[in-house]
Amino acid sequence: MSRATKGCGCASAVLVLLLIPAGYVGWKYVLPWWKTKPPTPSGKELQVHILDVGPVEGDSILIISPTGTSVLIDAGDTNKGKVVLEALKRYNVQQLDFFIATHPHPDHIGGADEVIKGTKVLRVIDNGTEPDVPESLAVKQGPKVAQKKPAQDKKSAQDKKPAAKSSSITKFYDDYKDAVTQSGASYEKTQAGTKYDIGGGARLMVLAPTEPLFTKDQMKTGGNLPNANSIVIRLDYGDFSMLLTGDAEEQTEHRMLTKDMNLRSTILKVSHHGSKYATSQDFVERVKPEVAVVSCGEWNRYGHPSQAVLDRLKAANAKLFRTDLQGEITITTRGKEKDYVIKTAKEGAVDVWAGRAGQKDDSTRSGFIAYGDFGPPPKAVNRK
Ligand SMILES: [Zn+2]
Repeated sequence: MSRATKGCGCASAVLVLLLIPAGYVGWKYVLPWWKTKPPTPSGKELQVHILDVGPVEGDSILIISPTGTSVLIDAGDTNKGKVVLEALKRYNVQQLDFFIATHPHPDHIGGADEVIKGTKVLRVIDNGTEPDVPESLAVKQGPKVAQKKPAQDKKSAQDKKPAAKSSSITKFYDDYKDAVTQSGASYEKTQAGTKYDIGGGARLMVLAPTEPLFTKDQMKTGGNLPNANSIVIRLDYGDFSMLLTGDAEEQTEHRMLTKDMNLRSTILKVSHHGSKYATSQDFVERVKPEVAVVSCGEWNRYGHPSQAVLDRLKAANAKLFRTDLQGEITITTRGKEKDYVIKTAKEGAVDVWAGRAGQKDDSTRSGFIAYGDFGPPPKAVNRK
């Protein structure tokens, strides 16, 4: 009797000893996997359209989920909203369930006010940051504050002049915010870890920015602040996945690499129009994309896409598509492995692996591409 009790005690002790490591493994590995596991795909078609928003640079990506939920990520440059609205019409999108602004630069949200005014938008999501006005153009008060607090005391005429300039350089942002307010759409600031179920088994997961956001001081050694805080999203649908990187910088990639995130993706929307300041070797190795898509304008003067980035993608055996050479790029999938079809608006032989030479730095620490730099095209380029 006492022997049996003794045996039973031993067995319990062994069981406990086995359960502790099993519990640890479950908590450490199975739970995170379970938490990030995408839902089961419905098997219906999901569409991703990398829109062609013209030869002057800009990003705009339309996702239509298997249940018809529509998501627009960025809206092209100022005055390009109508191009986006035409695309919505073409794909029979009656309303936007989500509009996501990756970061406050005009080539991403310049067309947002037109889009928000031109169609019904239910939810607007951004990272909560405002444009980073270069010191050379900045005034004591931010543009919004300057508008709300008109010269209360004896401000001289010189003080007022730069205020008007500042107001005009952030007009794209003010117009976006005003359009959001007037639209009645719900607004939400997002950050890494947030998930959005878009129906039919498709899901968006925010991978960046992570709080605390990058600060101006952290950019002193290089990189552009709004770009570094870009929203980065992973789209999952069954075995299909796509990484939508906005204009993320190498610093953003580095943060994601150190956060133990699942970055491996079927398709990579190459960051920052193919800039040399992003798509680092380590990042490409972790993402391991089968396909890379570059959204850039044929008149851009920033060397987009950079030859170094294209060489890295080629060495990783990715297939490459480019909006500057092939127009709009459409991806459709039913969520099974290797089951995706890519179509381009323009067909014909083009050398997608030839990068462009830059005439201007595309990640300056001092001012730049955000403010009226996308003027008329360089004379050397043939207009069609
Ligand atoms: Zn951009």
